[in-house]
Amino acid sequence: MDFDLPDELQELQATVRRLAQDKVKPRAREIDETGEYPQDLFEIFRDAGLLGLCIPTEYGGAGAGILGLTIAIEEVAKYSNTAALMLLLTRLPTGPVMIAGSEEQKKQYLPGIADGSLRAGFGLSEPQAGSDVMGMRTKAVQDGDDWVLNGTKCWMSGVVQADWYTVFAKTSADVTARKHDAITAFIVDRSLPGVSVGSTDRKMGVRGVDTGELLLDNVRVPSSKVIGEVGGFQLAMQGLNSMRPIVAARGIGLAEGALMYATEYVQQREAFTKTIADFQGIQWEIAKLAVDIEAARLLTYRAAWLADRGQFTKEWVPYLSMSKYFATELAVNASNVALQLLGAAGYMKDHLTELYYRDAKQLTIVEGTSQVQLGLIARGVLDRDLWWD
Ligand SMILES: Cc1cc2nc3c(=O)[nH]c(=O)nc-3n(C[C@H](O)[C@H](O)[C@H](O)COP(=O)(O)OP(=O)(O)OC[C@H]3O[C@@H](n4cnc5c(N)ncnc54)[C@H](O)[C@@H]3O)c2cc1C
Repeated sequence: MDFDLPDELQELQATVRRLAQDKVKPRAREIDETGEYPQDLFEIFRDAGLLGLCIPTEYGGAGAGILGLTIAIEEVAKYSNTAALMLLLTRLPTGPVMIAGSEEQKKQYLPGIADGSLRAGFGLSEPQAGSDVMGMRTKAVQDGDDWVLNGTKCWMSGVVQADWYTVFAKTSADVTARKHDAITAFIVDRSLPGVSVGSTDRKMGVRGVDTGELLLDNVRVPSSKVIGEVGGFQLAMQGLNSMRPIVAARGIGLAEGALMYATEYVQQREAFTKTIADFQGIQWEIAKLAVDIEAARLLTYRAAWLADRGQFTKEWVPYLSMSKYFATELAVNASNVALQLLGAAGYMKDHLTELYYRDAKQLTIVEGTSQVQLGLIARGVLDRDLWWD
């Protein structure tokens, strides 16, 4: 067993750490205030080669895998979860293409993500179907060599900026069918007639990258844009399973950033003739978060390592879900404790703690809520995928 990151990933970590301190940290508050897409950060990430971290080298990426992207996101999320989301979006919609796409699809859609000339979004959720994916109503009907898509996707991150979308739709005759083979994944180009962006959401946090609706009105998608097989719903699940450490990294980075911020504050804030940091009650809060951060990192790096080995099928799900569950709940807790440690100052926009607090909460909701993750972990134990005997 070796707990050291390989040399190239240590170098990546050091590089992204510097970039996050120099370029992301100074922009975090402004991005939140204006809610405007930080195109400057996108270009900085592009120039640093970070947009292609998880894209294989044969398709123009760095081939650093899920672990490489996880490490980069952890660094960036110390200061801005919006910036972390921009990096995450290089994997969420491309995951199904990398896992099951045709060679033609990989050549057409992956290099553009790596070089920043294309952006993509991931369309699974619908107004009536979030956790209950099988409840989706977006329908695809075959017509000659095309599929005709109709429906509405919602809460899609990056929907406004995306050039193409990975969209899941019911391909069964009965749109209410709840069998897994009823759902198929498609690549939908933004430029196709009938594709439009609907309303965008007014969010509590992670402002700067819009979430919103994707409207599909009689969109004709060629059969060559089916990802994997018709009825290949497992794709959605495998794509999401392999994403767990990447979302977890957003939580870990946020928790690290919030704890470091609050620690610096309590070491200089005086009260009762000491500094706040001198009180044992405060020290224990810091210590408990430090333990949880390191536990989350171990769970998450292992999950990323598993995912890079292709171990994201059912028997590995509990290990992947644990990282997402633990790290994102940690982010909520850490941001809450950090804000409390600053007292009134922490509640004001003069400090980053209120931003960490608002940004953290969506992490326990996106890409499978905490309750969904707990269900998956429990299923792993009940089915003996996770067993210690
Ligand atoms: C900021 C943000 C960005 C997002 N980006 C995307 C995106 O890019 N693409 C996309 O497709 N979606 C996206 N989503 C949507 C997200 O994936 C869904 O919100 C999530 O899957 C939960 O679905 P829901 O909101 O409909 O909640 P619901 O499914 O309605 O759940 C409501 C509550 O009930 C709980 N619950 C539901 N079922 C169970 C159960 N069986 N057992 C116990 N508890 C349960 C949930 O945990 C939750 O607490 C985004 C959401 C947010 C907030």
